[in-house]
Amino acid sequence: MPDKMLLKSWAAPSYPAGLPRSSWMAWMCRRLMKIRSWIFQPARVTYVRVCFTGLQAAVKTYGIFWKSQGVEMSTATKIGIIICDRYRRCAGGKCLRAMRNREGAFSIYADTDVELIGFTTCDGCPGGNIEYAGDEMVKNEVDVIHLATGLVVGYPPCPYIATFKALLEKRHGVKVVVGTHPIPKKYLEMHTHLGTWEDSVWKPLIEPTMADEEVRMSYD
Ligand code: SF4
Repeated sequence: MPDKMLLKSWAAPSYPAGLPRSSWMAWMCRRLMKIRSWIFQPARVTYVRVCFTGLQAAVKTYGIFWKSQGVEMSTATKIGIIICDRYRRCAGGKCLRAMRNREGAFSIYADTDVELIGFTTCDGCPGGNIEYAGDEMVKNEVDVIHLATGLVVGYPPCPYIATFKALLEKRHGVKVVVGTHPIPKKYLEMHTHLGTWEDSVWKPLIEPTMADEEVRMSYD
């Protein structure tokens, strides 16, 4: 039966009224089988495959187009971390744990996917690598650069935090957050004893990583 006729008969069946239920079921099955063989004709299956391949190619092409227009398809926030060179042997355990658990300064990403695109040190006082690390991270499309908690809790804290933040923000137009993992309890106690953070200028710098006591203890 030509396709159009088959569809027409399916859309407006001429099933005679008054037949027993078993005959009605057989009539339905026959029609379903015909519809199935109509759908799965080899030529039709090939046609669907070609359409699907074309659709895939279109999605890919438009993805490249959107990217070239500055529209980022990935929703993950790209993060770069710069640590104090005093801790250059650090494997990043606390920072990466905090990033995974969204603790400390990473709590701002509670509802967001994140992707680490760079991790390096400042290369020692006075932080000569800040300039180059920023360039590299921008090439990897960084959204936010974190200056690690080590800059704040070191003995003494880094004296260049404000300069690093201002430089990176002005030069690259990216957001810079001071802090990564929560301040460990032992560091808070020692700096409280030393009076390190008594000046109000420290308040916004330590606030993102203060966390609660239980969390601070877990980072000791
Ligand atoms: S104190 Fe500051 S400049 Fe010195 S090594 Fe640490 S982060 Fe770098």
